[in-house]
Amino acid sequence: MGYDNVEVPSAGQRVELSGEDELAAPDDPIVPIIHGDGIGVDVGPAAQTVLEAAADATGREIHWMRVYAGESARETYGENLPADTTEALREFKVSIKGPLTTPVGAGFRSLNVALRKELDLYANIRPTYHLEGVPSPVKRPEQMDMVTFRENTEDVYAGIEWEAGTEAVREVEAFVAEEMGFDDTIHDGPVGIGVKPITEFGTKRLVRKAIDYALEHGRDSVTLVHKGNIMKFTEGAFRDWGYEVAEAEYGEEVITEDTLWEERDGEPPDDAVVVNDRIADNMLQQILTRTDQYDVLAMPNLNGDYVSDACGAQIGGLGIAPGANVGDGRVLAEPVHGSAPKYAGQDKVNPTAMILSGRIMLEFMGWTDAADLVRDAVERTIVDRKVTYDIERQIEGGEKLATSEFAAAVVDNLRELA
Ligand code: NAP
Repeated sequence: MGYDNVEVPSAGQRVELSGEDELAAPDDPIVPIIHGDGIGVDVGPAAQTVLEAAADATGREIHWMRVYAGESARETYGENLPADTTEALREFKVSIKGPLTTPVGAGFRSLNVALRKELDLYANIRPTYHLEGVPSPVKRPEQMDMVTFRENTEDVYAGIEWEAGTEAVREVEAFVAEEMGFDDTIHDGPVGIGVKPITEFGTKRLVRKAIDYALEHGRDSVTLVHKGNIMKFTEGAFRDWGYEVAEAEYGEEVITEDTLWEERDGEPPDDAVVVNDRIADNMLQQILTRTDQYDVLAMPNLNGDYVSDACGAQIGGLGIAPGANVGDGRVLAEPVHGSAPKYAGQDKVNPTAMILSGRIMLEFMGWTDAADLVRDAVERTIVDRKVTYDIERQIEGGEKLATSEFAAAVVDNLRELA
């Protein structure tokens, strides 16, 4: 494939697939990177510096391929999401991006959502764990060690919605009232209408990914988080299809909570993953009140958005929380935070979320030694109280560093730990 406006690095190799969707990374992979909008110009290069050092310390080398989306793409290509970018992310399989701005109310639709759909990155994965030294609003942040799997392509995020006052919404309103018989359900006057599709296919592949992850990483449970008591045919179906996967596809490796109580008095077999479910509003309490009892959470898109942010708040918030969008044989790592335009280009914000997103990328490449080094080096830097403004304002005696200085301090620690 040729690229119009970006260069493929002259050295380095592609990450390939081994088996159906297992990634096999060489020691010199080509990795596309989108720095992103706003503070992406700060956190993108900072993360690159740390990930390069981690590769170097473990005898490897990353060959970066800069690609563009959002504002930087508009400058070069005159469009938000050029074909060069999606093609590079598709071809090289493992990539990382910073935040992209989405205008509220009007303007173009989310580029993040477009990328996830275009590349069929159907699972948004966020490992949420506490780093020592990071201030938290809860008493025992170290109890937080959950991995959220949020379905990324369906639900009310599918973009099937009609604006109030348009002919299209009037047609949908009439169909709902006249054809479907919900004639006194929608109040008179202007109305916006959206559709919430949850499919068996979309649910099952997401739940399968979550269970596979739990088995591979020695996790104890997978919790299906839904609002099926109210939205029976969408969120309730998510729960039912999730249990179907658990019961039909894993043999003795997976056991449902009901079976556990019926047959084993609540005692799980060794190494088995227990699958249970919780209603979403209850789950938002449970992550605060019974933090250490949950492990992997699998959720439809909207629940996943809320619950993963609530988990992130317990470990220090947006400057810290990493994530990745994952499909079959493809990973696009990205921090949870947005582009925070008011801080753009000030070399001020915390690059930890972007660095730790890179750590997830390294894990998917099978570079667990490098991934662990990244985590340990970030943690040591924060324990030493060398931190960016967001942490410094919450702790006593911290040394306030710029984004680039923090990244340099992490690299120093990483080299010492290697
Ligand atoms: P945001 O960009 O995440 O920023 C909200 C606040 O969070 C900032 O003002 C700052 O708080 C804190 N923060 C975020 N990142 C930080 C970092 N790296 N270090 C320290 N503090 C950080 O959220 P937003 O203002 O709602 O969204 C701005 C734009 O980003 C929107 O266009 C939105 O659509 C987009 N967005 C993109 C993504 C994505 O690309 N995946 C995700 C979310 C939002 P203080 O000012 O209190 O210090």
